[in-house]
Amino acid sequence: MIELQGIHKSYDVGSNKLHVLKGIDLTIEEGELVSIMGSSGSGKSTLLNILGILDTYDQGEYHLSGKHIKNLNETKAAWYRNQMIGFVFQSFNLIPFKNAMENVALPLYYQKVSRKRRNKIALEYLDRMGIKEWAEHTPNELSGGQKQRVAIARSMISKPKVILADEPTGALDSTTSFEVMNLFKEINSEGITIIIVTHEKDISERTNRVIHLKDGYIENITVNSPEMNIANV
Ligand code: ADP
Ligand code: MG
Repeated sequence: MIELQGIHKSYDVGSNKLHVLKGIDLTIEEGELVSIMGSSGSGKSTLLNILGILDTYDQGEYHLSGKHIKNLNETKAAWYRNQMIGFVFQSFNLIPFKNAMENVALPLYYQKVSRKRRNKIALEYLDRMGIKEWAEHTPNELSGGQKQRVAIARSMISKPKVILADEPTGALDSTTSFEVMNLFKEINSEGITIIIVTHEKDISERTNRVIHLKDGYIENITVNSPEMNIANV
């Protein structure tokens, strides 16, 4: 599903280059639930943004579902993102002046689905997330956990093959984090590949594999035993 070979990425900082990813080789199979850990500045978000076609890379190859992701123009990149990828962020990234239902429906607006139909589908996803009764509320009227449920519903509405989540529980208390993780596990059990960047061991322990990034390299990859995953459900 995801294949990275020798990925390098640098940022221009003034007249200097900051070498952030220094040769990343990684394969993620369809249906996996993996986490990416590493200290702040180790390149986790950079890697996730490349996977999500939100950013480009300098060297190497990235294949997503067999398609070489390289030199796409913005229209093509947006098309692949819309077809293949859902995003969830630590800060939720909801539109403040739209209600929960409209936020969830947004990806379908870009797919030119009629308002009536996209709102109906959005309500179904809010229902699945257990927050249908909050459909008419704007983000500032929702708790952190509710906002993240809205964001997860939005990430799922275009039926992506992969969901990329950058510290999705970073702004949530531990009980709410646990519930959000239950949602990710449920979504993953339906076959959607999920990649979660996290600082929290409790979260990474509930994924199948943990990719440890250090200074732009993969330091190691650990595999969690299935028993552990079951015990934690
Ligand atoms: P992490 O998510 O692991 O904390 P990032 O991938 O966000 O790390 O950042 C890795 C390094 O790249 C950091 O030193 C960060 O300051 C730098 N960086 C990230 N994005 C940019 C950018 N757009 N321009 C310049 N430097 C950046
Ligand atoms: Mg980050």
